[in-house]
Amino acid sequence: KMPPFDYSPPPYNGPSADEILAKRREYLSPSVFHFYKKPLNVVDGKRQYLFDEEGRRYVDAFGGIATVCCGHCHPDVVEAIVNQTKRLQHSTVLYLNSAIADFAEALASKLPGDLKVVFFTNSGTEANELAMLIARLYTGCHDIISLRNGYHGNASATMGATGQSIWKHNVVQSGVHHALNPDPYRGVFGPDGEKYAKDVQDLIDFGTSGNVAAFVSEAIQGVGGIIELAPGYLPAVYSTIKKAGGLCIADEVQAGFGRTGSHFWGFETQGVVPDIVTMAKGIGNGIPLGAVVTTPEIAEVLTRRNYFNTFGGNPVCTAAGLAVLKVIEKENLKENAHIVGSYLKDRLAALKDRYELIGDVRGRGLMLGVELVTDRQTKTPAKAETLHVMDEMKELGVLIGKGGYFGNVFRITPPLCFTKEDADYLVDSMDYVMSK
Ligand code: PMP
Repeated sequence: KMPPFDYSPPPYNGPSADEILAKRREYLSPSVFHFYKKPLNVVDGKRQYLFDEEGRRYVDAFGGIATVCCGHCHPDVVEAIVNQTKRLQHSTVLYLNSAIADFAEALASKLPGDLKVVFFTNSGTEANELAMLIARLYTGCHDIISLRNGYHGNASATMGATGQSIWKHNVVQSGVHHALNPDPYRGVFGPDGEKYAKDVQDLIDFGTSGNVAAFVSEAIQGVGGIIELAPGYLPAVYSTIKKAGGLCIADEVQAGFGRTGSHFWGFETQGVVPDIVTMAKGIGNGIPLGAVVTTPEIAEVLTRRNYFNTFGGNPVCTAAGLAVLKVIEKENLKENAHIVGSYLKDRLAALKDRYELIGDVRGRGLMLGVELVTDRQTKTPAKAETLHVMDEMKELGVLIGKGGYFGNVFRITPPLCFTKEDADYLVDSMDYVMSK
C-alpha cells in the first residue's frame, strides 16, 4: 500500500489527458515525448508526490529529472517566490539587488577552495555553454574533452560535448573529443578508473595536439544511465588535464545539491576540486535557474569582455535558490538522501538476486540506476521490458525515469525528502510487476 499522506488536491476542472495530448500533437514539437501507453496528466505536486486529474496520487521517483530536490511546491520555496514576485520580478545587471547577491554568497559558501565567483544562467545547457566559453577564453585553446555517453545540454557546444549520438542530430562539432567512458559495468577496464584515464592522455597527445581548453564531465552520469565513474578516474584525469594546461569542468546539474547523500557535490565523491562548476535543476527546485561558479582568476576573462544575459540570476529565481539551500540544510536532505538511498539500493540489490532481468543496480544516495538485461552474461539490453515495467509501475502509482545508452536503465532520482516507506512501495511495485 502507498504510504499515507495527508493532502487532497483541489478539484481539477481542466481538460483531460487525452484532450491535452491531442493539443500537444498539434501544437508542440514532435520531439517532446511521453513514455506511457495511457497518457498521464499531472495537475498537482506536493513533496514527493504528484497527483493526476482524478486526484490519484503517484510516488514521484523521477523528481522532474533530478530537479525537485526539496519536494514539489515546498512551502518555503513557494513563499520565497511569492514574496519576491510581489516586490520585484525582474531587474537588470545595471542595478543592484540583494536576492541575487545573497544567493551568490550562499552558493559560494557551499563550494571548496577559491570557487566563489558566480555567473547565473537559466538552464544547465547555458551553464555548460558558458563554462566551455570561459575555458576557451582563459586558455586560448579550443579543444574540449568529454565522455562518451555523458550529457551536457542541447545547444551548440554542449551538444558537441554530449557523448550519445542520439542527442547530436548530425550536428558536427569541431574541437570536441570523446574519451572512453569509465563505466564499471560495461566499460573495457571494469572498475579501474586509472586505466580509462590513459585514454584522455592519448587524446591530448594525438587528438588535440595540446590544444586542450577543458575536460568536462558529470561525476555520476544521469541521462547516460546513472553511471558512477570508475573510482580513481577523476583524480587521474584532472592531473592529466592540469599538466596539459586545460581546465576541469564539473557538471553538477544532476549530481549536485546533496543528491549523492554522501557529499553536497558529485565531484567530492572522487575527491577532486574542479576549476569550474556548473549547476542547474536542483538549484531552483523546478524554477529555471542555472549557475557557473569559478575562481576570481578565471572569472576575470569575462569581466573584461562584458558578458551578460537578460534573465540569468533573475531575483525570483535566486530567491527560490536561496530558499532551496536553506531547506536542504534545515531538513537534512543530504543525510536523508544517504539513509533512504542506501536502504533503497539494498532493497533493489535484493531484487536483483531474485530476477535475472536485473543486470546491475548502482549509484549512490538518491541517484540510483537499475539496468535491465535479457542475459546477464552478454548484458543484452532489455529495452522493451524496461518500458513495460515502467508502464506497469505507473499504473500502480510509481513514476520512475529511464535512460542509458540502450534505453534500458531505470533512473531513480526522487525528491530528497523521499522516505523508506516510499522506497518500500517502489520496490514492492517493481517486484510485483516483474513477478507477473
Ligand atoms: N547537464 C546534465 C548532467 C544534465 O542532466 C542536463 C539535463 N538533463 C543538462 C546538463 C542540461 O540541462 P538543461 O536541460 O537545464 O539545459
